[in-house]
Amino acid sequence: MMVRPAPETLLRADQDWSGSRVAVLGLGRSGAAASRLLRARGVRVTGIDDRDAEELDSVVAELRHHVQQWCLGGALPSWTETDALVVSPGVPTDHPALVAAREARIEVLGELELASRLVAGPLVVVTGTNGKSTTVSLVHAMLQSAGRRSRLVGNIGIAMSDEVSSLSDDEIVVVEASSFQLEWIDSLHPRVAAVLNIAPDHLNRYADFEAYAAAKRNLLRNLQANDLFVFPHFSRRLREWSESSPARALPFGLELPAGTEGVTVEDGGVVVRRASHSSRLFAVDDIPLLGEHNLLNVLAAVALVEVFDLDPDAMARAVRRFEALDHRAVDVPSADGVRWIDDSKATNVNAAVATARGVDPLGVWLLGGSGKGEDYTPLRDAAGRARHVICFGGEASAILAAVEGATEVSSAENLGQALTVAAEVVESGEAVLLSPACASFDEFDSFEQRGDFFAAWVRDHRGGVQ
Ligand code: ADP
Repeated sequence: MMVRPAPETLLRADQDWSGSRVAVLGLGRSGAAASRLLRARGVRVTGIDDRDAEELDSVVAELRHHVQQWCLGGALPSWTETDALVVSPGVPTDHPALVAAREARIEVLGELELASRLVAGPLVVVTGTNGKSTTVSLVHAMLQSAGRRSRLVGNIGIAMSDEVSSLSDDEIVVVEASSFQLEWIDSLHPRVAAVLNIAPDHLNRYADFEAYAAAKRNLLRNLQANDLFVFPHFSRRLREWSESSPARALPFGLELPAGTEGVTVEDGGVVVRRASHSSRLFAVDDIPLLGEHNLLNVLAAVALVEVFDLDPDAMARAVRRFEALDHRAVDVPSADGVRWIDDSKATNVNAAVATARGVDPLGVWLLGGSGKGEDYTPLRDAAGRARHVICFGGEASAILAAVEGATEVSSAENLGQALTVAAEVVESGEAVLLSPACASFDEFDSFEQRGDFFAAWVRDHRGGVQ
């Protein structure tokens, strides 16, 4: 049998990739970006996807100059003619192509790993169950406000593979990394890494919660003493991770034990506390975002840029000007004296509870959609803060069972029906919150589409400003 080189010797930054044969598994956004990057470096690319040519019509057309060979609808390439396999986030680890590639001792790497090999500047990588997009956007805004070159990539919707060729050597690359992307990293080496929190999510994709946490922990594998690890001090699990990492630990939290360095709140201000001195950056009231969870995101973002020594005024300016990202606790204008809040991105229990705790008075909370195998019991306490809870869609009865008795509850077939009921029961001065704790796929293509439906309904039925 042919002896292959050890997998890790392939596709290194200091090597010439041209002439290599690389298969890309999964031709979504990041798979397509990886194909473009590989082709631009002279690689012969094989595109693999479970969908057939008809379903992938537009992708095949778009990538016709980048992919030389197609393996669609379950077809697999010849592994003796393949040097490496780039895997897209979310491909199950037991996918036949992955199993076969590993058996053939072919290097398997994720799109983020691939692209990161070509980055010269510092990587700031953020993972966590919730708050990633908001936090990386805050980091990016602070860096830019302070005049630093910064590029935002990753799970936020911009594949790193599409960006690397236009990066300058000193540019800071701010990466939002999902657990799926972190499953397939190897040499990716963050200068600064953060795990914002870990709560149950994606349990339909992982064997159990520990397997999900282990994927996130992968982010720490290459940290060294010169690097920084940012984590919430209140999480025992993450404190333990920080203790077992050689990186310098910089915790954040609303409270930190006396003498602990980190980013915290003192006398109503956000403070970077160091052994030698503390510096106050801005007032908590300056933060234009809803809820304690967003205050935590700001503390994390401040900790994440600590190594770059930014001008404090520039950081404060960036935070004051920061606007909530779409579908993350966004107020939808209306003319009925009710606050309508689109938090459609809250697709797990922990996220929805975090937002519901920040809304006062919470008149109606809309919960439901499609499930991911989560336990809804933790919704019960927070449901007691709402005057009325409406459970809708596929998970309506499971959620109803968890919150019944905590407050007034009703159920609805779908979001449209839930909104009609909400409009009937809400009182002026109260809020209606869509922070559904579930994915949207029973009724919509995405959380964005669900949030847009909510906003359009409010505009059409509650006299919102056009
Ligand atoms: P992610 O990119 O991790 O999904 P986002 O910043 O897009 O995070 O926020 C998604 C949702 O998660 C928000 O709409 C909010 O409901 C919730 N959320 C945001 N930050 C936190 C946090 N630090 N802790 C708990 N929930 C949060």
